[in-house]
Amino acid sequence: MAKTCAFKAEIRQMLDLVIHSLYSKKEIFLRELISNASDAIDRAKYLALTDKSIAPEAPEWKILLTADSETHTLVIEDNGVGMSAEEMEDALGTIAKSGSKAFAEALKKGEETNIPELIGKFGVGFYAAFMVADCVMVDSLRRGEGSSAVRWMSTGDGEYTMDEGARTTPGTTISLHLREGMDDYTSGWTLRDLVRRYSDFIAYPIHLVEVGKKEEAKQPDEDKPLNTMVALWKRAKSDVKPEEYEAFYRQTLHGAGEPMRSLHIVTEGTLEYRALIFIPKSVGMEMMMPGKKHGLSLYVRNVFIGDEVEELVPSWLRFIKGVVDSSDLPLNVSREMLQDDAIIRKIRNDVTNRVLKALAEMAKEKPEDYVTFTAALGDFLKEGYHSDWEHREKLQELLRFRNLKDEAYTSLKAYKEAMPEGQKAIYMLTADTLQAAKHSPCLEALKAKGYDVLFLTTPVDQFIATEFYEYDKTPIVFADKGDLKLEDDEAAAKEKQEAAEKEYKALTESITKQLEATVREVRVSTRLTDSACCLVQDPQALNPAMRRMMEAMGQSVPEEKRILEINPTHPLIQTLAQTTDETKRADTIDLLYGQACLAEGSLPPDPVRFNALVAALMQ
Ligand code: ADP
Ligand code: MG
Repeated sequence: MAKTCAFKAEIRQMLDLVIHSLYSKKEIFLRELISNASDAIDRAKYLALTDKSIAPEAPEWKILLTADSETHTLVIEDNGVGMSAEEMEDALGTIAKSGSKAFAEALKKGEETNIPELIGKFGVGFYAAFMVADCVMVDSLRRGEGSSAVRWMSTGDGEYTMDEGARTTPGTTISLHLREGMDDYTSGWTLRDLVRRYSDFIAYPIHLVEVGKKEEAKQPDEDKPLNTMVALWKRAKSDVKPEEYEAFYRQTLHGAGEPMRSLHIVTEGTLEYRALIFIPKSVGMEMMMPGKKHGLSLYVRNVFIGDEVEELVPSWLRFIKGVVDSSDLPLNVSREMLQDDAIIRKIRNDVTNRVLKALAEMAKEKPEDYVTFTAALGDFLKEGYHSDWEHREKLQELLRFRNLKDEAYTSLKAYKEAMPEGQKAIYMLTADTLQAAKHSPCLEALKAKGYDVLFLTTPVDQFIATEFYEYDKTPIVFADKGDLKLEDDEAAAKEKQEAAEKEYKALTESITKQLEATVREVRVSTRLTDSACCLVQDPQALNPAMRRMMEAMGQSVPEEKRILEINPTHPLIQTLAQTTDETKRADTIDLLYGQACLAEGSLPPDPVRFNALVAALMQ
């Protein structure tokens, strides 16, 4: 009744790459198979909580390695949940697992330099077996009533067969026939070393049997498990080495590279939990999507409950990785129960506060690290500032914006402290890029005064821009909005302004008339020194970058007329005021308006006409 099936294309492609990669650390296959065995036991234990038939009496959970150098085989056996024929086909032969496809794509993109990390990241660990074995046989008997033993076998060359299995007790046996030159993986010394290095904290005992080894050649403690079984987070902080945290981050949590910070949390008293939390150095683009699955792994008294438990962290903290182990939760806690559990809420709040504290410390003590963090992940904090009112104040202190003076990541606090005498507000500007921001005509008067400006240039920045109006009792003013009020003597400034308005009344009126469709008002500027004109808005208006973003997303944005400010000292404006040629006047006004649009990163209303006008001017 054996049946032969072809692997799905993606699997075949991936297998090919795994087998033929010149990857030197083939040894990680063992870590992957042991971790699968451990996962299978975790699942059996968890299912047994609600289904008596899974494990009528609690078995002695264990993982057994059997090495035979004569036959070149290594067998990894567990008494976990096992697999039914259907589950087996699903897990080991198809692309039902989205991971395989993503993995194959990542490999194609030339990321194959780091196969071990990819294997972990995409959950295709099982296939690592083919790096060392030319034939892999999986025998399994699913726990629970009415299951029958099944066998899966493949030489990794495009096909696999399914047949009746030989197991009589629930669990899974994976037998590897080692490739030539891989005999080292039957050596007791090598296997012990690998387990200690990669799988020491696996919570179930891993035993080793060396077939053919003479009784008298055995060391006294050879019957002991190879692993110490103490989860890293259960150990005293003082005896965990930094390398061990890093190894955990990479191997167990599939983190990329080195973590930026590792937090080992041990609490006692009213809220008792332990956790290992990692702040990464960077994350993939997909993380920016708020719907992306995230969260920490949850254990309750050593029993694995689930990974990506989103209730354990606010959505904006989705870049952190980690494990939480609580002894306060009931063992039979279900995913649904987590949603409004008071203990989970307390843990989430505590984890959040500790991460915020770690970031504040980093900003203070290791500013260069904090710059790296800000550049890669700062947008998440801004998202938090927008959405998490509970932690808003702390988050505000952690935000950084590039500034005009030296383009450095600047905090609101540092900005305020550096404000010169007489500066009454914090100035900000939204723009699509740092370049556009720096050269915005709206900054001219501020530059002349020697005031610094903070730039909001990322999409998230633009999204939250409307939420900045004050910091530490100092108002926040957007340089392209409303009235800048830069003069010290307000009464004199007002008088001067009124005089100018009067003098240029005829001009502003004629421009207003011509640009009626898009401009609400034309006024004499207080913020321009070099440019002829610029567009500004009401303080509560949608900023232009945000408007463009919403339009790009297909949302209808209400049309909003703008204010055009003109600089009367500019030669162009003076010529315009004097010209009597109607056509020339109309052309110049359209040119000026087009330029003002370009300066803020928008297109002139009629780009073709604008081009023609510029061309005519050049002739
Ligand atoms: P992952 O562990 O990330 O899911 P793997 O490629 O390592 O990916 O394993 C694929 C799947 O095969 C597992 O999700 C599981 O369903 C099944 N599997 C592998 N090994 C075992 C095992 N020892 N016992 C039960 N199921 C297993
Ligand atoms: Mg796995």
